[in-house]
Amino acid sequence: MKRETRLLRAQPAGDEGFASLSVPVTRASTIVFPTSDAFERRYEQFYDGYTYGLYGTPTSRTLEARMAELYAAEYSLCMPSGQSATVLALTALLKAGDRVLVTAAAYGSTRTFCTEMLARFGVETVLYDPAIGTDIGALINERTRLVVIESPGSNTMEIQDIPAIAQAVRTAGACVLADNTWASALNCNPLDLGADIVMEALSKHVGGHADLLLGALVTRDEALFRRMKDVSRMMGLGVSADDASLALRGLQTMPLRMEREGASALTLARWLASRPEIERVLHPALPNDPGHRLWRRDFQGASGLFSIALAVPFQERMAEFVDALRVFRIGASWGSAQSIVTPQTPHRVGDEAGATAGNKLIRFSIGLEPVEDLQADIEAALSLLGADAAQTTRARALDKRELQQEER
Ligand SMILES: *Cc1c(COP(=O)(O)O)cnc(C)c1O
Repeated sequence: MKRETRLLRAQPAGDEGFASLSVPVTRASTIVFPTSDAFERRYEQFYDGYTYGLYGTPTSRTLEARMAELYAAEYSLCMPSGQSATVLALTALLKAGDRVLVTAAAYGSTRTFCTEMLARFGVETVLYDPAIGTDIGALINERTRLVVIESPGSNTMEIQDIPAIAQAVRTAGACVLADNTWASALNCNPLDLGADIVMEALSKHVGGHADLLLGALVTRDEALFRRMKDVSRMMGLGVSADDASLALRGLQTMPLRMEREGASALTLARWLASRPEIERVLHPALPNDPGHRLWRRDFQGASGLFSIALAVPFQERMAEFVDALRVFRIGASWGSAQSIVTPQTPHRVGDEAGATAGNKLIRFSIGLEPVEDLQADIEAALSLLGADAAQTTRARALDKRELQQEER
């Protein structure tokens, strides 16, 4: 063989005696087979072996196994982003003529994929109140195949009664898809509460460093898994070994990061609830939160993501408050080591129901900075708004209302 040919046939050095603590990164598009017969039969191992890099590598399969294990499930499928994972589940389960029920508090792109994209393919989407509970039964007809839940809701943080909804959906012979990104497997297992499929955006807590995009689907139902795996092949969706490796690394520190972020978030949420500039803190671990009872029943903890609504007189100055923050960085997404602030106007796209005061919310993703620095940062920004001025404005508004009442 000539040198050029030899260069094209590198054999890996043996790995005997090499016991790394990390999972190797195994990049591949083509996978070679020993015989033409083995090649012909390669799809026999499509669901649990290796056929082509897009359909799985040892690195991505390791991550899938870990995700399944975290949810005490048998099957998992990783996708290039949380959104693509949601889209895969929706397209695998729905067909023209079907109806899908989607919580009105769902992640914005989940809703718009249903209302704009699925609508073009003849699927009817009904948005429902996240607090619906067993009343979901009234929205289920014989065409309903799937119910999408997300607890707590994106931005507005409503906790859903997952067991009640799942029971009603199961009775009707439909499936439940749960977006569990906020809690992660560490703080909630929707499969134990009756959901059929869990979606978790690994871009958030699992990645943990704002440099990774991945999503996972997890189920205990082999038929559902095979259907989703088939559709992922047809849609050409797969994940890179490098990304899977970053997620595997993130998993190692996720419990510690989430514990720290959750504790800091709760400290800040409690403190913010006492501030005059704040109308409402939306955090299910606060005892007076509407979702608190369900959260205590179904969750094992809270993550570092919560929202606030500024008091009405300050809502117009929300940008001023957000721009004054120095430790918090302005951006979307969450779960990163750095704290992030996200202004939300309006807080629910296309649906103002459930608005707190006005329709503006500020969402905080608490990172790993010492909580004292985060509190000082928020305090300095709030002081710009001038609480005394607020109280005066509020008092004036009250005076005005009283005057108007007297006039009548
Ligand atoms: C971020 C997020 C997604 C989408 O994840 P990407 O990886 O960014 O596509 C889906 N659902 C929720 C609740 C999210 O926060």
